[in-house]
Amino acid sequence: MLIVKKFGGSSVADRERIFNVAERCVEEYKKGNDVIVVLSAMGDTTDELIAKAKEINPNASRREMDMLLTTGEQVSVSLMAMAISSMGIPAVSLNAFQVGMHCTSAYGNARFKRVDADRIRHELEYRKIVIITGFQGVNKYEDYVTLGRGGSDTTAVAIAAALHADACEIYTDVDGVYTADPRIVKNARKLESISYDEMLELASLGAKVLHNRSVEMAKKYGVQLIVRSSLNRSEGTVVKEVAKMEKMLISGVASDKNTSRVSVIGVQDKPGVAFKIFNTLAKKGINVDIILQSVGRGGTKDISFTVSQEDLNDTLKTLEENKESLTIQEIKHKDNVAKISIVGAGMMSNPGVAAKMFESLFNAQVNISMISTSEVRITVLIDENDVERAMVAVHDGFGLGA
Ligand code: ADP
Ligand code: ASP
Ligand code: MG
Repeated sequence: MLIVKKFGGSSVADRERIFNVAERCVEEYKKGNDVIVVLSAMGDTTDELIAKAKEINPNASRREMDMLLTTGEQVSVSLMAMAISSMGIPAVSLNAFQVGMHCTSAYGNARFKRVDADRIRHELEYRKIVIITGFQGVNKYEDYVTLGRGGSDTTAVAIAAALHADACEIYTDVDGVYTADPRIVKNARKLESISYDEMLELASLGAKVLHNRSVEMAKKYGVQLIVRSSLNRSEGTVVKEVAKMEKMLISGVASDKNTSRVSVIGVQDKPGVAFKIFNTLAKKGINVDIILQSVGRGGTKDISFTVSQEDLNDTLKTLEENKESLTIQEIKHKDNVAKISIVGAGMMSNPGVAAKMFESLFNAQVNISMISTSEVRITVLIDENDVERAMVAVHDGFGLGA
Protein backbone atom coordinates (compact mmCIF):
# COMPACT_ATOMS: atom_id res chain seq x y z
CA MET A 1 0.00 0.00 0.00
CA LEU A 2 1.03 3.60 -0.58
CA ILE A 3 0.37 5.80 2.44
CA VAL A 4 0.64 9.60 2.65
CA LYS A 5 1.08 10.93 6.19
CA LYS A 6 0.98 14.65 6.92
CA PHE A 7 2.20 16.08 10.23
CA GLY A 8 1.50 19.66 11.30
CA GLY A 9 3.84 22.11 13.01
CA SER A 10 3.11 21.11 16.60
CA SER A 11 3.72 17.44 15.72
CA VAL A 12 7.34 18.23 14.72
CA ALA A 13 7.96 21.09 17.16
CA ASP A 14 11.10 19.69 18.83
CA ARG A 15 13.57 16.80 18.83
CA GLU A 16 11.32 14.50 20.82
CA ARG A 17 8.32 15.14 18.57
CA ILE A 18 10.44 14.65 15.44
CA PHE A 19 11.53 11.22 16.69
CA ASN A 20 7.94 10.40 17.63
CA VAL A 21 6.89 11.07 14.02
CA ALA A 22 9.95 9.24 12.65
CA GLU A 23 8.97 6.17 14.68
CA ARG A 24 5.41 6.16 13.38
CA CYS A 25 6.67 6.43 9.81
CA VAL A 26 9.21 3.66 10.28
CA GLU A 27 6.51 1.45 11.80
CA GLU A 28 4.39 1.92 8.67
CA TYR A 29 7.40 1.26 6.45
CA LYS A 30 8.24 -1.96 8.28
CA LYS A 31 4.76 -3.28 7.48
CA GLY A 32 5.96 -3.29 3.87
CA ASN A 33 4.15 -0.13 2.82
CA ASP A 34 5.46 2.75 0.73
CA VAL A 35 5.50 5.86 2.91
CA ILE A 36 5.35 9.50 1.84
CA VAL A 37 5.55 12.08 4.62
CA VAL A 38 4.43 15.70 4.21
CA LEU A 39 5.58 18.13 6.89
CA SER A 40 4.82 21.65 8.06
CA ALA A 41 7.43 23.95 9.54
CA MET A 42 8.40 23.20 13.17
CA GLY A 43 6.14 24.72 15.86
CA ASP A 44 5.54 28.43 15.35
CA THR A 45 8.31 28.84 12.78
CA THR A 46 6.05 30.39 10.13
CA ASP A 47 4.74 33.01 12.58
CA GLU A 48 8.28 33.76 13.70
CA LEU A 49 9.47 34.22 10.11
CA ILE A 50 6.57 36.60 9.43
CA ALA A 51 7.51 38.60 12.54
CA LYS A 52 11.15 38.75 11.40
CA ALA A 53 10.11 40.07 8.00
CA LYS A 54 7.95 42.76 9.61
CA GLU A 55 10.97 43.99 11.58
CA ILE A 56 12.88 44.49 8.34
CA ASN A 57 10.13 45.70 6.01
CA PRO A 58 6.44 45.71 6.89
CA ASN A 59 5.59 46.16 3.20
CA ALA A 60 7.77 43.34 1.87
CA SER A 61 6.64 41.92 -1.46
CA ARG A 62 4.68 38.71 -1.48
CA ARG A 63 7.41 37.12 -3.55
CA GLU A 64 10.07 37.73 -0.92
CA MET A 65 7.68 36.64 1.83
CA ASP A 66 7.25 33.29 0.06
CA MET A 67 10.99 32.97 -0.44
CA LEU A 68 11.32 33.38 3.33
CA LEU A 69 8.37 31.27 4.49
CA THR A 70 9.27 28.24 2.38
CA THR A 71 12.50 27.87 4.37
CA GLY A 72 10.51 26.69 7.42
CA GLU A 73 9.36 23.49 5.76
CA GLN A 74 12.81 22.81 4.33
CA VAL A 75 14.20 22.68 7.87
CA SER A 76 11.63 20.17 9.12
CA VAL A 77 11.91 17.77 6.14
CA SER A 78 15.70 17.58 6.24
CA LEU A 79 15.74 17.02 10.02
CA MET A 80 13.12 14.30 9.61
CA ALA A 81 15.21 12.55 6.94
CA MET A 82 18.17 12.68 9.34
CA ALA A 83 16.07 11.26 12.18
CA ILE A 84 14.76 8.37 10.08
CA SER A 85 18.23 7.62 8.67
CA SER A 86 19.63 7.51 12.18
CA MET A 87 17.15 4.69 12.83
CA GLY A 88 18.67 2.70 10.00
CA ILE A 89 15.92 3.27 7.42
CA PRO A 90 16.67 4.99 4.09
CA ALA A 91 14.96 8.37 3.73
CA VAL A 92 15.16 11.37 1.42
CA SER A 93 13.75 14.87 1.79
CA LEU A 94 12.46 16.77 -1.25
CA ASN A 95 11.24 20.34 -1.70
CA ALA A 96 8.67 21.62 -4.19
CA PHE A 97 11.31 22.16 -6.90
CA GLN A 98 12.72 18.69 -6.58
CA VAL A 99 9.29 17.05 -6.71
CA GLY A 100 7.81 19.36 -9.32
CA MET A 101 4.85 20.80 -7.42
CA HIS A 102 3.55 23.18 -10.08
CA CYS A 103 1.33 26.05 -8.94
CA THR A 104 -0.42 29.18 -10.16
CA SER A 105 1.68 32.30 -9.82
CA ALA A 106 -0.25 33.96 -6.95
CA TYR A 107 2.38 34.49 -4.27
CA GLY A 108 1.02 33.77 -0.81
CA ASN A 109 -2.11 32.16 -2.14
CA ALA A 110 -1.14 29.75 -4.91
CA ARG A 111 -3.11 26.73 -6.11
CA PHE A 112 -1.76 23.46 -7.44
CA LYS A 113 -1.91 22.95 -11.19
CA ARG A 114 0.08 19.73 -11.53
CA VAL A 115 2.21 17.51 -9.33
CA ASP A 116 4.92 15.38 -10.97
CA ALA A 117 5.00 11.83 -9.66
CA ASP A 118 8.25 10.62 -11.29
CA ARG A 119 10.84 11.70 -8.74
CA ILE A 120 8.73 10.48 -5.82
CA ARG A 121 8.09 7.12 -7.51
CA HIS A 122 11.75 6.78 -8.30
CA GLU A 123 12.73 7.28 -4.66
CA LEU A 124 10.01 4.89 -3.49
CA GLU A 125 11.35 2.22 -5.84
CA TYR A 126 14.60 2.40 -3.89
CA ARG A 127 12.49 1.67 -0.79
CA LYS A 128 13.11 5.08 0.74
CA ILE A 129 10.72 6.98 2.97
CA VAL A 130 10.07 10.16 0.98
CA ILE A 131 9.65 13.35 3.02
CA ILE A 132 8.16 16.36 1.24
CA THR A 133 7.84 20.04 2.19
CA GLY A 134 4.22 21.08 2.72
CA PHE A 135 2.79 24.54 2.01
CA GLN A 136 5.00 25.32 -1.00
CA GLY A 137 4.99 25.10 -4.77
CA VAL A 138 6.76 26.48 -7.80
CA ASN A 139 5.20 28.89 -10.28
CA LYS A 140 5.82 29.52 -13.97
CA TYR A 141 8.57 32.02 -13.19
CA GLU A 142 10.37 29.25 -11.29
CA ASP A 143 9.77 31.09 -8.04
CA TYR A 144 8.63 29.59 -4.79
CA VAL A 145 5.01 30.26 -3.88
CA THR A 146 3.05 29.33 -0.76
CA LEU A 147 -0.50 28.01 -0.57
CA GLY A 148 -1.90 30.18 2.23
CA ARG A 149 -1.71 29.51 5.97
CA GLY A 150 -2.39 25.90 6.86
CA GLY A 151 -1.64 24.85 3.27
CA SER A 152 0.39 21.73 4.09
CA ASP A 153 -2.84 19.73 4.30
CA THR A 154 -3.42 20.61 0.66
CA THR A 155 0.08 19.44 -0.30
CA ALA A 156 -0.69 16.06 1.26
CA VAL A 157 -3.94 15.71 -0.66
CA ALA A 158 -2.36 16.82 -3.95
CA ILE A 159 0.35 14.19 -3.57
CA ALA A 160 -2.14 11.50 -2.54
CA ALA A 161 -4.21 12.31 -5.63
CA ALA A 162 -1.23 12.43 -8.02
CA LEU A 163 0.15 9.09 -6.82
CA HIS A 164 -3.22 7.39 -6.28
CA ALA A 165 -2.30 6.70 -2.68
CA ASP A 166 -4.27 4.12 -0.73
CA ALA A 167 -4.59 6.39 2.30
CA CYS A 168 -4.09 10.04 3.20
CA GLU A 169 -3.69 10.59 6.92
CA ILE A 170 -3.59 14.07 8.46
CA TYR A 171 -1.90 13.95 11.86
CA THR A 172 -2.41 16.91 14.16
CA ASP A 173 -2.58 17.94 17.82
CA VAL A 174 -6.23 16.95 18.37
CA ASP A 175 -7.83 13.50 18.02
CA GLY A 176 -9.96 14.32 14.98
CA VAL A 177 -12.67 16.68 13.76
CA TYR A 178 -14.94 17.78 16.59
CA THR A 179 -18.35 19.45 16.70
CA ALA A 180 -16.42 22.64 17.65
CA ASP A 181 -12.82 23.59 18.36
CA PRO A 182 -12.12 21.40 21.43
CA ARG A 183 -9.80 24.08 22.79
CA ILE A 184 -12.74 26.49 23.04
CA VAL A 185 -15.67 24.17 23.71
CA LYS A 186 -14.60 21.67 26.34
CA ASN A 187 -17.45 19.21 25.81
CA ALA A 188 -17.14 19.18 21.99
CA ARG A 189 -17.64 15.72 20.53
CA LYS A 190 -15.36 13.93 18.12
CA LEU A 191 -17.09 12.94 14.88
CA GLU A 192 -16.58 9.42 13.55
CA SER A 193 -17.00 10.74 10.03
CA ILE A 194 -18.00 13.89 8.18
CA SER A 195 -18.89 14.56 4.54
CA TYR A 196 -16.62 16.59 2.26
CA ASP A 197 -19.29 19.27 1.90
CA GLU A 198 -19.79 19.80 5.61
CA MET A 199 -16.06 19.69 6.30
CA LEU A 200 -15.48 22.20 3.52
CA GLU A 201 -17.99 24.60 5.08
CA LEU A 202 -16.48 24.20 8.54
CA ALA A 203 -12.94 24.68 7.24
CA SER A 204 -13.92 27.72 5.19
CA LEU A 205 -15.70 29.24 8.19
CA GLY A 206 -12.69 29.01 10.47
CA ALA A 207 -12.26 25.42 11.70
CA LYS A 208 -8.56 25.34 10.91
CA VAL A 209 -8.17 21.62 11.62
CA LEU A 210 -8.07 21.23 7.82
CA HIS A 211 -7.10 23.75 5.13
CA ASN A 212 -10.27 24.37 3.13
CA ARG A 213 -8.53 23.79 -0.22
CA SER A 214 -7.40 20.37 0.95
CA VAL A 215 -11.03 19.36 1.46
CA GLU A 216 -12.03 20.83 -1.90
CA MET A 217 -9.28 18.84 -3.60
CA ALA A 218 -10.01 15.65 -1.66
CA LYS A 219 -13.61 15.82 -2.83
CA LYS A 220 -12.62 16.51 -6.43
CA TYR A 221 -10.22 13.57 -6.64
CA GLY A 222 -12.09 11.25 -4.27
CA VAL A 223 -9.27 11.12 -1.72
CA GLN A 224 -10.58 9.86 1.60
CA LEU A 225 -8.96 11.70 4.52
CA ILE A 226 -8.33 10.53 8.04
CA VAL A 227 -7.72 13.22 10.66
CA ARG A 228 -6.05 11.88 13.79
CA SER A 229 -3.61 12.66 16.56
CA SER A 230 0.15 12.35 16.19
CA LEU A 231 0.40 11.87 19.95
CA ASN A 232 -1.92 8.94 20.55
CA ARG A 233 -3.49 6.03 18.68
CA SER A 234 -7.16 7.00 18.86
CA GLU A 235 -9.33 6.36 15.80
CA GLY A 236 -9.66 9.83 14.32
CA THR A 237 -12.30 11.17 11.92
CA VAL A 238 -12.88 10.04 8.35
CA VAL A 239 -13.71 12.74 5.79
CA LYS A 240 -15.51 11.20 2.82
CA GLU A 241 -18.37 11.59 0.35
CA VAL A 242 -21.22 10.28 2.45
CA ALA A 243 -20.82 10.32 6.18
CA LYS A 244 -22.87 8.64 8.80
CA MET A 245 -24.02 11.84 10.41
CA GLU A 246 -25.71 10.27 13.40
CA LYS A 247 -28.92 12.04 12.34
CA MET A 248 -27.54 15.35 13.41
CA LEU A 249 -29.15 18.57 12.32
CA ILE A 250 -25.94 20.50 12.86
CA SER A 251 -22.53 18.94 12.31
CA GLY A 252 -20.50 21.67 13.92
CA VAL A 253 -19.86 25.20 15.07
CA ALA A 254 -16.90 27.23 13.77
CA SER A 255 -15.47 30.62 14.63
CA ASP A 256 -13.20 32.97 12.73
CA LYS A 257 -11.50 36.01 14.23
CA ASN A 258 -9.74 36.88 11.01
CA THR A 259 -12.42 39.29 9.89
CA SER A 260 -13.19 42.99 10.01
CA ARG A 261 -16.28 45.06 9.27
CA VAL A 262 -16.29 48.00 6.91
CA SER A 263 -19.20 50.44 6.55
CA VAL A 264 -19.71 53.00 3.81
CA ILE A 265 -22.08 55.66 5.03
CA GLY A 266 -24.40 57.93 3.09
CA VAL A 267 -23.96 56.53 -0.42
CA GLN A 268 -26.57 57.50 -3.02
CA ASP A 269 -29.71 55.35 -2.93
CA LYS A 270 -29.94 54.58 -6.66
CA PRO A 271 -29.36 51.59 -8.97
CA GLY A 272 -25.74 50.65 -9.69
CA VAL A 273 -24.12 52.01 -6.53
CA ALA A 274 -23.61 48.62 -4.86
CA PHE A 275 -22.34 47.25 -8.15
CA LYS A 276 -19.74 50.01 -8.44
CA ILE A 277 -18.51 49.62 -4.87
CA PHE A 278 -18.10 45.85 -4.97
CA ASN A 279 -16.78 45.84 -8.51
CA THR A 280 -14.07 48.30 -7.50
CA LEU A 281 -13.07 46.02 -4.61
CA ALA A 282 -13.26 42.86 -6.74
CA LYS A 283 -10.86 44.38 -9.26
CA LYS A 284 -8.31 44.70 -6.44
CA GLY A 285 -8.77 41.02 -5.63
CA ILE A 286 -10.57 41.80 -2.37
CA ASN A 287 -12.97 39.11 -1.27
CA VAL A 288 -16.08 40.48 0.43
CA ASP A 289 -18.02 38.22 2.73
CA ILE A 290 -21.23 39.16 4.60
CA ILE A 291 -23.04 42.21 3.16
CA LEU A 292 -25.75 44.24 4.84
CA GLN A 293 -27.51 47.22 3.28
CA SER A 294 -29.69 49.60 5.23
CA VAL A 295 -33.07 50.80 4.04
CA GLY A 296 -32.62 54.06 2.17
CA ARG A 297 -33.63 57.37 3.75
CA GLY A 298 -33.32 60.89 2.46
CA GLY A 299 -31.85 59.65 -0.82
CA THR A 300 -28.91 57.87 0.82
CA LYS A 301 -28.18 54.46 2.38
CA ASP A 302 -25.39 52.70 4.28
CA ILE A 303 -23.70 49.45 3.27
CA SER A 304 -21.67 47.29 5.65
CA PHE A 305 -19.60 44.24 4.74
CA THR A 306 -16.81 42.07 6.08
CA VAL A 307 -13.35 41.40 4.66
CA SER A 308 -10.44 39.37 6.03
CA GLN A 309 -7.98 41.28 8.21
CA GLU A 310 -5.23 40.98 5.60
CA ASP A 311 -7.48 42.77 3.11
CA LEU A 312 -8.63 45.54 5.46
CA ASN A 313 -5.93 48.09 4.60
CA ASP A 314 -6.31 47.55 0.86
CA THR A 315 -10.08 47.87 1.22
CA LEU A 316 -9.92 51.15 3.13
CA LYS A 317 -7.34 52.55 0.73
CA THR A 318 -9.36 51.58 -2.34
CA LEU A 319 -12.57 53.06 -0.95
CA GLU A 320 -10.79 56.26 0.09
CA GLU A 321 -9.27 56.67 -3.38
CA ASN A 322 -12.68 56.24 -5.01
CA LYS A 323 -14.73 58.01 -2.35
CA GLU A 324 -16.20 60.62 -4.67
CA SER A 325 -17.07 58.41 -7.63
CA LEU A 326 -18.66 55.87 -5.27
CA THR A 327 -20.67 58.71 -3.62
CA ILE A 328 -19.41 57.74 -0.15
CA GLN A 329 -19.78 60.34 2.62
CA GLU A 330 -17.96 58.45 5.34
CA ILE A 331 -15.98 55.21 5.72
CA LYS A 332 -15.92 53.38 9.05
CA HIS A 333 -14.34 50.11 10.13
CA LYS A 334 -14.22 47.80 13.13
CA ASP A 335 -11.43 45.30 13.61
CA ASN A 336 -12.33 43.37 16.73
CA VAL A 337 -15.22 41.40 15.29
CA ALA A 338 -15.56 37.66 14.68
CA LYS A 339 -17.79 35.27 12.83
CA ILE A 340 -19.58 32.34 14.41
CA SER A 341 -21.17 29.79 12.10
CA ILE A 342 -23.21 26.65 12.39
CA VAL A 343 -22.96 24.08 9.60
CA GLY A 344 -25.18 21.14 8.78
CA ALA A 345 -26.81 19.57 5.75
CA GLY A 346 -29.78 18.81 8.02
CA MET A 347 -30.77 22.44 8.48
CA MET A 348 -32.00 22.74 4.89
CA SER A 349 -35.33 21.14 5.63
CA ASN A 350 -35.68 22.33 9.20
CA PRO A 351 -37.35 25.61 10.05
CA GLY A 352 -36.39 27.16 13.34
CA VAL A 353 -32.64 26.48 13.16
CA ALA A 354 -31.81 30.16 12.82
CA ALA A 355 -34.20 31.03 15.65
CA LYS A 356 -32.52 28.47 17.90
CA MET A 357 -29.09 29.91 17.16
CA PHE A 358 -30.28 33.46 17.92
CA GLU A 359 -31.99 32.27 21.08
CA SER A 360 -28.76 30.67 22.30
CA LEU A 361 -26.87 33.90 21.63
CA PHE A 362 -29.57 35.94 23.34
CA ASN A 363 -29.41 33.70 26.41
CA ALA A 364 -25.67 34.33 26.55
CA GLN A 365 -26.29 38.06 26.05
CA VAL A 366 -24.24 38.14 22.84
CA ASN A 367 -25.16 40.89 20.42
CA ILE A 368 -25.36 40.08 16.68
CA SER A 369 -24.25 42.76 14.25
CA MET A 370 -24.70 40.97 10.91
CA ILE A 371 -26.26 37.73 9.68
CA SER A 372 -25.75 35.64 6.57
CA THR A 373 -27.35 32.31 5.70
CA SER A 374 -27.20 29.58 3.07
CA GLU A 375 -28.87 26.17 2.81
CA VAL A 376 -26.18 24.53 4.90
CA ARG A 377 -24.92 27.25 7.21
CA ILE A 378 -25.79 30.31 9.27
CA THR A 379 -23.11 32.87 10.08
CA VAL A 380 -23.36 35.79 12.49
CA LEU A 381 -20.93 38.60 13.13
CA ILE A 382 -20.30 39.40 16.79
CA ASP A 383 -17.80 41.19 19.01
CA GLU A 384 -14.46 39.36 19.15
CA ASN A 385 -14.54 39.33 22.96
CA ASP A 386 -17.75 37.30 22.91
CA VAL A 387 -16.45 34.45 20.74
CA GLU A 388 -15.70 31.84 23.37
CA ARG A 389 -18.94 32.45 25.25
CA ALA A 390 -20.96 32.43 22.03
CA MET A 391 -19.39 29.20 20.78
CA VAL A 392 -20.21 27.39 24.00
CA ALA A 393 -23.76 28.80 24.06
CA VAL A 394 -24.57 27.80 20.48
CA HIS A 395 -22.93 24.39 20.85
CA ASP A 396 -24.97 23.71 24.00
CA GLY A 397 -28.10 25.21 22.45
CA PHE A 398 -28.08 22.53 19.75
CA GLY A 399 -27.22 19.81 22.24
CA LEU A 400 -23.97 18.96 20.43
CA GLY A 401 -21.93 18.30 23.54
CA ALA A 402 -20.62 14.94 24.63
P1 ADP B 1 -1.51 21.46 12.37
O1 ADP B 1 -0.36 22.27 12.80
O2 ADP B 1 -1.40 20.01 12.75
O3 ADP B 1 -1.87 21.63 10.93
P2 ADP B 1 -3.66 23.24 13.14
O4 ADP B 1 -3.34 24.10 14.28
O5 ADP B 1 -3.59 23.81 11.76
O6 ADP B 1 -2.75 21.93 13.24
O7 ADP B 1 -5.10 22.59 13.31
C1 ADP B 1 -5.44 21.90 14.50
C2 ADP B 1 -6.23 22.81 15.41
O8 ADP B 1 -7.49 23.08 14.83
C3 ADP B 1 -6.57 22.19 16.74
O9 ADP B 1 -5.53 22.37 17.66
C4 ADP B 1 -7.86 22.90 17.13
O10 ADP B 1 -7.63 23.91 18.11
C5 ADP B 1 -8.32 23.58 15.85
N1 ADP B 1 -9.73 23.31 15.51
C6 ADP B 1 -10.63 24.26 15.13
N2 ADP B 1 -11.83 23.72 14.90
C7 ADP B 1 -11.71 22.39 15.13
C8 ADP B 1 -12.64 21.28 15.04
N3 ADP B 1 -13.91 21.45 14.67
N4 ADP B 1 -12.17 20.04 15.34
C9 ADP B 1 -10.88 19.87 15.69
N5 ADP B 1 -9.97 20.87 15.80
C10 ADP B 1 -10.37 22.13 15.51
N1 ASP C 1 3.70 26.26 8.02
C1 ASP C 1 2.54 26.77 7.34
C2 ASP C 1 1.68 27.59 8.28
O1 ASP C 1 2.01 27.75 9.44
C3 ASP C 1 1.75 25.70 6.65
C4 ASP C 1 1.05 24.71 7.55
O2 ASP C 1 1.33 24.66 8.74
O3 ASP C 1 0.22 23.95 7.03
O4 ASP C 1 0.69 28.12 7.86
MG1 MG D 1 -2.98 23.09 9.90
